[in-house]
Amino acid sequence: MDGKLAVIGLGSIGSMALWQASRLTDSVAGFEAAAPAHGRSAVGGDTRLFRMVYRGNPGYYPILERSRALWAELEAETGQDILTRCGGLSIGTANGPYLNAVLETTRATGADHQVLTHEELAARYPQHNLRPDDIAVYDPHAGALRTDRAVTAAVTAARANGATIHTSTPIDSITETEGGVTLTSGEKSWTYENVIIASGGWSRRLMPDYLKAATETKRIFLTWFVARDGAQYTPEKFPIFIRIYEDRSMYGAPAVDGVTVKATLDGRGKPTPDAGNVPRELTEAEIAETTDTVTEFFPGLDPAIVRSDAFPDLFTKDNNPLLGPIHQGSRIYTATGFSGGGFKNATGFGEIAAQEALGKQTFDYLDFVCPERFRTS
Ligand SMILES: Cc1cc2nc3c(=O)[nH]c(=O)nc-3n(C[C@H](O)[C@H](O)[C@H](O)COP(=O)(O)OP(=O)(O)OC[C@H]3O[C@@H](n4cnc5c(N)ncnc54)[C@H](O)[C@@H]3O)c2cc1C
Repeated sequence: MDGKLAVIGLGSIGSMALWQASRLTDSVAGFEAAAPAHGRSAVGGDTRLFRMVYRGNPGYYPILERSRALWAELEAETGQDILTRCGGLSIGTANGPYLNAVLETTRATGADHQVLTHEELAARYPQHNLRPDDIAVYDPHAGALRTDRAVTAAVTAARANGATIHTSTPIDSITETEGGVTLTSGEKSWTYENVIIASGGWSRRLMPDYLKAATETKRIFLTWFVARDGAQYTPEKFPIFIRIYEDRSMYGAPAVDGVTVKATLDGRGKPTPDAGNVPRELTEAEIAETTDTVTEFFPGLDPAIVRSDAFPDLFTKDNNPLLGPIHQGSRIYTATGFSGGGFKNATGFGEIAAQEALGKQTFDYLDFVCPERFRTS
């Protein structure tokens, strides 16, 4: 037996699971096919939005609260500046479906928020070219997560706690035997009491057939722009934002690098067969729609795309993650399928994965993320 727990994949969630597991045991190892935080994984693209005000399942809220606390702990433990706390805006038509859904979830969760009238929104955030009936919900705890810093910090903290880290070690197979799980990479093999699969867009290779059938790897692209007046798009002046209408939608983040503003079409994930070969070039249609939307939404941005890229993520059929053993009593635990929305909760999901894989109880209402919900027989 080589140890208590192995984490396969040290990207967004695996790095956090390793960090959390290393707080519980010094008998944990991480296996990464390339290097932690490498730029072709779902860590790529510098930032991810963090927000507590959202539309959808209120069940995510306690995990968000825990994640927020853990982001602060990771910053304190490693001295890294990971979450740029700049607030967030959800912008849309007053009484329209998007903002109604955001407000309904927010009422259910009790998240701190402030509704901004059209006039307040226009006065406070003149960067947004508003439509006549636009209002916004302001989220004071939102911000931009610095992805590569976050993952590197978690791996550093795990190593300091005694975790073993294998880089450039792609796991080819996992086999559950009585009392353990054997991993192979080329000629080498290891056996651990428990294993977490956290290999993101690559996870299907290691998953049982019923989960292969319930998942798909998708490509998501990002685009960045330069402001005509950079001082208007700093984190102090320009919160992260999401704007959704029936005809167009966009989300983005301030210029955390001091130069480029992220502004990207929302909900454009497209199936891609190989997470390791995601097409990075944007199509003409993607460029045209992005340019049109930026031109309408942000007169203060030069609408020429100065940078673009694309990354993989694993989507499930219901867009909820796969957090749990592959079947009841199994020593193989999946922490994947974050469906384009996992980074904000990476710390919380990582903690759930580490604790549950080591046999500890966490939240008691997590049926909506349990992998076995996809079993048909
Ligand atoms: C462009 C884009 C924008 C997004 N925006 C947001 C956002 O604003 N807010 C938000 O909350 N979420 C967002 N998301 C979603 C979020 O980033 C992902 O859900 C999350 O990062 C997925 O993390 P992961 O750990 O599953 O995968 P990854 O971070 O990709 O990690 C997987 C790791 O496993 C490794 N690996 C693969 N196969 C093996 C193997 N066989 N052996 C060992 N290692 C292996 C890979 O090399 C990689 O390092 C976005 C996603 C994308 C792609």
